[in-house]
Amino acid sequence: MNLLGLTCDELAKAFQRRYGRGMFHAAALYRSFYRQPHLDIDAFPEFSGAGGLAEKVKADITDPLPRIVNEETQGAVKKLVFRLADAVEVESVIIPMANHVSLCVSSQAGCRMGCRFCETGQMGLQRNLSAHEIVAQVYTAKVVMGLPVRNVVFMGMGEPLDNLEPLLQAIRVLEDQRGMNIAKRHMTVSTAGLVSGIEKLAAQNWPQLKLAVSLNAPNDELRSRLMPVNRHYPLAQLKSALRKFPLARGNVLFMEYVLIKEQNDAPDHARQLADYLEGLPARVNLIPYNPRQQSSYEAPLPSDVQRFRQALIDQGIFVRLRKSKGENIQAACGQLGRRVNGYVSRFEDSKEWKHTQT
Ligand code: SAH
Ligand code: SF4
Repeated sequence: MNLLGLTCDELAKAFQRRYGRGMFHAAALYRSFYRQPHLDIDAFPEFSGAGGLAEKVKADITDPLPRIVNEETQGAVKKLVFRLADAVEVESVIIPMANHVSLCVSSQAGCRMGCRFCETGQMGLQRNLSAHEIVAQVYTAKVVMGLPVRNVVFMGMGEPLDNLEPLLQAIRVLEDQRGMNIAKRHMTVSTAGLVSGIEKLAAQNWPQLKLAVSLNAPNDELRSRLMPVNRHYPLAQLKSALRKFPLARGNVLFMEYVLIKEQNDAPDHARQLADYLEGLPARVNLIPYNPRQQSSYEAPLPSDVQRFRQALIDQGIFVRLRKSKGENIQAACGQLGRRVNGYVSRFEDSKEWKHTQT
């Protein structure tokens, strides 16, 4: 039993099946586990006189938390590198806000979407994370490190909607009030525009959940060049899926736009972007490109960023520039990953999204 992959209700069902016990005992364990990492099951008053229940539970719990093998501080943000049970490594980013912390988590090791500007995209996909591996990143920050994590953004390594079931389960576990207690309105899923995944997420009917879309280009020709996913799901199809996405009152879609010098930063691009957003309840988060290793693209000048931002504002678009203390917070998320030899994205060559070992 891995407590990090289960809601309290699911744990109660497992207790019923395994030990003939129910919510009373399950909730005691669950609450305690999500309050502090050192479980002393023998000391649970609820378990005393429960006929060796503590021993059975202890034998059944398999909860090796991934080890943090590296911590890097980049200005205000801190990156954690986790090593999973099979030695695969993923990263989370701790982003301090005024009175709390936002945590940017990974949903996959690597990513097979192959976006040209993205470090993670250059790794290809190593593997999907399971729900408990996603939750473990939040658990480590909140419970083990004791940080006041309020927001979780799925903007770390990977395309969350390419790993949908574990993502959905992680959200259910994270929001369980008897455990992590992070409300859906404090979670943001970021997608490169995987329309099939957006539709499936919409079908959950979770209007409080926030959706961010990495748009990055306002026309199909350019977007297909920067983001191969656009060849499968062009902008018009993306827009019609976004129109149908359930949003609670006051919620908007967050359109991420990584501004890359002389690629997508012309006045015409700003006009096309404003046209595209017509009819969508959307805000734009403008992210100055953070050059990845061996990148052929360049970061925009601050004056280019201002010009583009102003052009959008002039067209009535609500824009936010994603910067903090001279550092680009979102890009800290977007830059995760290092090259893993042997894995390449075969996205462009294939109808199916496969990863392959070369
Ligand atoms: N796969 C998801 C979530 C992870 S990427 C997605 O694409 O939305 C998180 C964000 O980082 C995306 O908005 C992406 O456009 C951005 N990003 C990727 N590489 C970047 C870079 N080199 N500089 C700045 N932002 C980058
Ligand atoms: Fe994957 Fe997002 Fe990077 Fe694209 S931007 S390669 S979808 S992680």
